[in-house]
Amino acid sequence: MNKRFFLSEPHMSGNELKYIEKVFQSNYIAPLGEHVNKFEESIKDYAGAKNALAVISGTAAIHLALRVLGIGQDDDVLASTFTFIGSVNAILYQGANPVFIDSDKKSWNLSSKLLNKYLCECDKKPKALIVTHLYGQCADIEKIADICALHGVYLIEDAAESLGAVFNGKHTGTFGDFGIYSFNGNKILTTSGGGMLVSSNKEWIDKAKFYCTQAKEPFVHYEHLEYGYNYRMSNVLAAIGVAQMEVIEERVAKKREIFEWYREFLGDVKEITFMPELENSRGNRWLTAMIFAKSDYNKIMKALEEVNVESRPLWKPMHMQPLFSDAKSVVDGTSEELFNKGLCVASSTTMMKDDVKMICDVIKENICGTGGRT
Ligand SMILES: *Cc1c(COP(=O)(O)O)cnc(C)c1O
Repeated sequence: MNKRFFLSEPHMSGNELKYIEKVFQSNYIAPLGEHVNKFEESIKDYAGAKNALAVISGTAAIHLALRVLGIGQDDDVLASTFTFIGSVNAILYQGANPVFIDSDKKSWNLSSKLLNKYLCECDKKPKALIVTHLYGQCADIEKIADICALHGVYLIEDAAESLGAVFNGKHTGTFGDFGIYSFNGNKILTTSGGGMLVSSNKEWIDKAKFYCTQAKEPFVHYEHLEYGYNYRMSNVLAAIGVAQMEVIEERVAKKREIFEWYREFLGDVKEITFMPELENSRGNRWLTAMIFAKSDYNKIMKALEEVNVESRPLWKPMHMQPLFSDAKSVVDGTSEELFNKGLCVASSTTMMKDDVKMICDVIKENICGTGGRT
């Protein structure tokens, strides 16, 4: 049996242990240290972000953004419905109400049309929008940013999956008031767990830093006027991040190459449509995602599992989750259809072309209407 092909497994650059060694030599295991600063600098350099704050997770970064923006009890916060729960949990932490917006067909990400329609018609103006660049592919972010600016709605970009994705020459995460990245175990880069908050507003990042280190007022005895969190990233994990950032462009190139291999082997299969890429954008193709016109994806998933290949249905939209059965939503069936028809498939950057070919052969054997077995 071949080794397991995961959706997206950790892929070290080779320098991680060396930098961790340095951390140990300096004994700055925790809390902070030079690697935290270096990691933040590398994100700023790479993504063109003005200010960055390294924290324990992408979820924590979103939480800090909402807190700094003053979003609280009973405020409405718009969000992509087609996303992972980590995008929106923090709305609940703040006692606010999510309002979910559906995707459009041309990006599979948040529909700027539905967003604009809602903002023109709603009685209660939402305070913010959390837009996700799903599977590493850019949302129509310039248009979305314009609409938010027009209506006075703060924009938070959930770029957890899209580090390295660029829209019109500018990195995802840098269009909004805040952007967040994740370094969880399955993301394009990983620190085993971690996140980054970025913003062009220095005061906001300073405030987020204050909240994420227990909201200590500047007195030696630790005075407290507000409550905070313990969300700061450790120097050990930041050392991993510094080494990972050295290979970000390599990883993006490889993810995109893997996608091209899938397209080469499956592109002529009418049954299959791949997640699109907007004009003027370069996604990072974190996971290759596709929908099947008629085939039962459970059968395909099962067949892949039998040859030790991981695949997974596309994210179940938030408005369909029991947790959010009472939440407002603006939907037109797009994300529901994607969820009903789609899979993401093994896209680890350690994979070779032959691995992808083997996976594609299994997919082809298990779809209907193209000479497959059913
Ligand atoms: C992974 C992820 C998050 C959360 O990031 P963590 O670092 O795991 O907290 C948020 N949103 C999306 C879209 C993600 O994929």
